Amino acid sequence: MIGVTVLGSTGSIGVSTLDVIARHPERYRVVALTANRDLDGLYDQCLRFRPDYAVMADPDSALGLERCIRHAGLATSVLAGVEGLEAVAQLPEAEQVMAAIVGAAGLLPTLAAVRAGKRILLANKEALVVSGRLFMEAVERHGAEVLPIDSEHNAVFQCMPSGFEHGLERVGVRRILLTASGGPFRQTPEEALEHVTPAQACAHPNWEMGRKISVDSATMMNKGLEVIEACWLFHTRPERVDVLLHPQSVIHSLVEYLDGSVLAQLGNPDMRTPIAHAMAWPQRIESGVGSLDLFQVAHLDFEPPSLRRFPCLGLAYEAIAAGGAAPAVLNAANEVAVAAFLEQGLRFTAIPEVIRRTLEEMPLADGEDLAVLLETDAEARIRAERITRQLV
Ligand code: NAD
Ligand code: MG
Repeated sequence: MIGVTVLGSTGSIGVSTLDVIARHPERYRVVALTANRDLDGLYDQCLRFRPDYAVMADPDSALGLERCIRHAGLATSVLAGVEGLEAVAQLPEAEQVMAAIVGAAGLLPTLAAVRAGKRILLANKEALVVSGRLFMEAVERHGAEVLPIDSEHNAVFQCMPSGFEHGLERVGVRRILLTASGGPFRQTPEEALEHVTPAQACAHPNWEMGRKISVDSATMMNKGLEVIEACWLFHTRPERVDVLLHPQSVIHSLVEYLDGSVLAQLGNPDMRTPIAHAMAWPQRIESGVGSLDLFQVAHLDFEPPSLRRFPCLGLAYEAIAAGGAAPAVLNAANEVAVAAFLEQGLRFTAIPEVIRRTLEEMPLADGEDLAVLLETDAEARIRAERITRQLV
């Protein structure tokens, strides 16, 4: 039996992960589940999966869960806070840790799992964007294994030759092509973008996801974060990572070789495919995803992304090129701006404005020291919040 801890189990990726696990009760066992404040959601999952541990980041929610668990007579131990998250990320009973917390909040628990030498099923791209070099060095040092859950990176991983960790040139890879659906506003007139609502931004044409990543898909910051993620995961530079719009979301990404060969991974847009792939790798297991009906798909379209329509994508390329802690600033400012768009009436088109101004204001800090990265993240949030207040 393979023990699995699911960080962020009540979210979109967490639920899909438990769906895959439930299909293979002879193969996987849930060791720990975690959530922020969704007490009812986590309690239901505890009743169903009987984990050894359940963690709620919010201490009051943890007290509530503790009462429910005792009342139901479950043996699950309840922990709270970041300490609880870090503790269950390191448990010897779990070989695999699904990192599916959203945002930089997932950084410390994910790093704890890395340091414990786990197989990391990495959905939480923000953790890697914030701490890239440090994260990958820790993976190496502690003998951890990172398998990408992001559908694009999982596709690239499937198309990569072995030995890519020694550099793409050495294994004959010319470039990585990340596909992007373009989100709900690919064809919206640019002057109308100013007035789009959170509900419209979260209505993704092909994928059902959490609200933060849905907005990121609408601004294409999601693809920007993914370019940075690809640079770290595949040991390459942004010049070798291209983005193409592919509205059908059937080709999940491609790898181009020196001889002109281009390998792609295709499938229905359902996150259970990359999740099952990463959990079972190098084997293959059922994920619950049906066959791809290419007759139904009929067309595969491609177009270049416009940086005028999607300025966030350009900002992400600039941040990874600037290096150091610039991606951490980009990410923090984006988290603040997206939350303000969702909850405080910040205009959609002001999201890149907040990020640009925060990046301009912040001195370039070192990206190799965890304390500096955490300070930079906190400082960037304070500045981004001030800039946001000026814009709402
Ligand atoms: P979601 O909002 O649906 O779920 C987030 C989970 O994290 C929930 O369980 C929530 O309780 C927990 N959480 C939130 N804030 C927390 C905090 N401060 N401390 C501890 N736990 C916290 O998000 P999602 O769509 O499942 O995305 C999760 C991650 O996976 C993100 O990094 C996202 O970019 C990435 N991802 C998601 C998809 C997708 O299809 N949803 C695809 C690729 C990558
Ligand atoms: Mg993705």
